[in-house]
Amino acid sequence: MSSLAATTIRRPRTTEKTATDPVLAVLSRLCALLDIDSVTLSRIETDGFRLLAASGASPDTRLLGPWMKRAAASDGPLIVADIARSQGSPAALGFYAGMVLPTGDDKIKLLLSLSDARPRSEAMAHRLAGLAIEVTSDATINRLARQIAQHKAQLALEQNQFERASQTAKIGIWSCDLADESLNWTDSVYDLFELPRGSELSRDVTLRHYTDQSRQTMEAARAQAIANCSDFTVDAEIITASGARRWMRLTGNVEARDGVAVRIFGMKQDITEEKLLADKTRYLAETDVMTGLANRSQFQTRLGNLAVAPIGGLLLVDLDGFKQINDSFGHALGDQCLREAARRLTACCDQASLLARIGGDEFAVLMGPKQTESEISALGDRIVKAVGQPYEHNGHAIALSASVGVACHRRGTADDLFHDADTALYAAKAAGRNTSRTHKH
Ligand code: GH3
Ligand code: MG
Repeated sequence: MSSLAATTIRRPRTTEKTATDPVLAVLSRLCALLDIDSVTLSRIETDGFRLLAASGASPDTRLLGPWMKRAAASDGPLIVADIARSQGSPAALGFYAGMVLPTGDDKIKLLLSLSDARPRSEAMAHRLAGLAIEVTSDATINRLARQIAQHKAQLALEQNQFERASQTAKIGIWSCDLADESLNWTDSVYDLFELPRGSELSRDVTLRHYTDQSRQTMEAARAQAIANCSDFTVDAEIITASGARRWMRLTGNVEARDGVAVRIFGMKQDITEEKLLADKTRYLAETDVMTGLANRSQFQTRLGNLAVAPIGGLLLVDLDGFKQINDSFGHALGDQCLREAARRLTACCDQASLLARIGGDEFAVLMGPKQTESEISALGDRIVKAVGQPYEHNGHAIALSASVGVACHRRGTADDLFHDADTALYAAKAAGRNTSRTHKH
């Protein structure tokens, strides 16, 4: 019993309360019969006591705790008839008797405690203790022990079910004691990091599994949560013990005592598949599959954000006589020409903030606000030159060329900008194609 580290006395949990009703009746009878202030029944646990039932005056746990601890460690009943006299100094508690009750289950130990503000004579104290043992009959106590054992088994089952369900959902629970940064993980977190279950953990080593970017994001969110005693959620990329890349959704909740963060706990969920699917879905929604450039939808979204994310200029590029290329060489080779045009555009538009295919043979180049009007206009000429090179394919030299309409943005809406570039493109086509025109304000 010396393993009782503290004399913690916890209140009963509601689930155990039902098991204690017949015992409560016995304790109440004892209280009245023996005429004492308080009778309690507690379960002895490794780190203290769990109060199962109490009758009479609410026990003062600070006063009772040390006596209960001694009684739990004692071979027979501990009976202190007059506490003040036995310790040679005044005491707030007069009389205490504590006895460990046999339950028929080695793992469940119960302690019955009688206490009163008034001291008793030695003889009376022993009689009270004897009577208490008689009244708490074996049947009642054994039944209680059985119910506690069932309750424990149920808890273990629930724990097991929780573990299995969380493993299926790839969700694990973690906690970190802020005093010494010690970590605690459930099996699913070990699985996520591909570390042996139950192996020793250190925060330093764990942090090395994060990619640099994810580590910074996570540390910033964590520090802020600790400072504000709040919560955080981040998606972080890790490299597992076997070198695989995984994404996890990390939630953290800060537990504070007296306004000071003492512990963080939360969940880590493997979201790799979800993340890859989301990335792929976004890629498909925003990309022109044939050329790999941004698609019209992404272009329109970016153009529509002009008010909050300024744009310097827009260049519209349309291939010349492309119908003819299709007609002469077939649609498949026409597609190859479109991909070649996209490659040439990519090579000469490295300053562009967005390069998109917005129609059959039409491309758009968005330039950022730092580009000057002459730089943007000059890019139009460079595009004409770059795209206007013959395309060698299977011994054929296909004449590729493009016309470009340029508009710089000073004021006005996205529609105005598009209209200006389109007008300039029309002018380039009208001027004989394979040339660039800039809209004049
Ligand atoms: P212009 O110089 O006036 O631009 O003449 P154009 O022949 O290029 O005419 P326009 O730009 O109006 O037509 C573009 C053509 O591109 C129409 C269509 O047949 C073709 N096209 C559109 N989408 C595709 C595609 O995905 N693949 C191929 N191979 N051709 C396409
Ligand atoms: Mg065309």
